[in-house]
Amino acid sequence: MGIQVNHLVKSFGATRVVNDVTFTVNPGELVALLGPSGGGKSTILRIIAGLESSDQGEVWLDNERVDHLHTRDRRIGFVFQHYALFRHMTVADNIAFGLDVRGVPKEKQRKRVGDLLDLMGLSGLDGRLPAQLSGGQRQRVALARALAPEPRLLLLDEPFGAVDAKVREELRRWLRNLHDEFHTTSIFVTHDQEEAFAVSDRVLILNKGRVEQDAAPLDVLDHPATEFVARFVGEVNVLDAVDKDGAVFAGPLSVPVTATGAGKLHVVVRAYDLKFWHAEDGQGIATARRVVPLGDRVRVDAEIDGGVPIFAQFPRRSSLLRGVEPGARLGIEVTHARAWPAP
Ligand code: ADP
Ligand code: MG
Repeated sequence: MGIQVNHLVKSFGATRVVNDVTFTVNPGELVALLGPSGGGKSTILRIIAGLESSDQGEVWLDNERVDHLHTRDRRIGFVFQHYALFRHMTVADNIAFGLDVRGVPKEKQRKRVGDLLDLMGLSGLDGRLPAQLSGGQRQRVALARALAPEPRLLLLDEPFGAVDAKVREELRRWLRNLHDEFHTTSIFVTHDQEEAFAVSDRVLILNKGRVEQDAAPLDVLDHPATEFVARFVGEVNVLDAVDKDGAVFAGPLSVPVTATGAGKLHVVVRAYDLKFWHAEDGQGIATARRVVPLGDRVRVDAEIDGGVPIFAQFPRRSSLLRGVEPGARLGIEVTHARAWPAP
């Protein structure tokens, strides 16, 4: 049955940092816990691992309640950003560590370590010490070490946070390949949405100790459950808007959302869900301010008449960009938006 977390609650002093969190991870699934720093992600992982106790709630692993079990009896593997390798042990000994403490016969250990070295692209490095490895290699060893004893659950807490962007992307691919090979039920914590979407089957968005949404990556993008999720995921404009007789406007800009009759609204528009184009003299509803190259895309920062900033992204060679330069008048069409009543 994988893992089931029921109504978890945890406070530090007067602050409730985990607030009635319930979720399931099915066997073989890789789920990401995504949210801003301080949202309670690490605390949830530590409770599952048995490194922290909860005030209320239950943790079930494979139909067994594990709250009362010691960490070492839960059979959970960890990879944390700063969960360092044993410095005085070779790569092979690090990977074999969890097998050794369980008394697995040496011959079986060697076979398992060899398989993992191959799988992780670490062949030939088995005799090295951690200090003789790159950051990316070290995290691959950490992954192999966590997986060697065949844990029931793998917990990864921002495991790639300390390596640079290029290596991080490589490690994501290693992790995903490894997951597709072993199907170890896994929870991956990150504050980086791109990372969450790149590796996981499902995403739990966590904010202030609460699960705001539990859905597939595309659903989180296209059907955000709350204004928080809409704002947190993707690059968005948030505009104050009003509902005038069933049509929604942010200043002079018409917004295609079903009117709610709520009066004042917050409209959330993703950077790729609107079009700018160069308007004829005397027309348009905005002025372009900055055109920022982002590699294969271009971001255009503009100001709607009345002073409200808005931005959009375009493929670099988009025909819409013709004549769009600082000072140019712009027409704007919003193609997709979501609205929430303004508090
Ligand atoms: P995240 O991993 O999402 O960044 P954490 O679970 O680490 O969030 O922290 C959630 C909140 O709990 C933060 O405000 C943090 O300061 C607080 N916190 C975490 N651990 C402790 C602790 N041992 N004692 C007191 N406060 C803590
Ligand atoms: Mg954390």
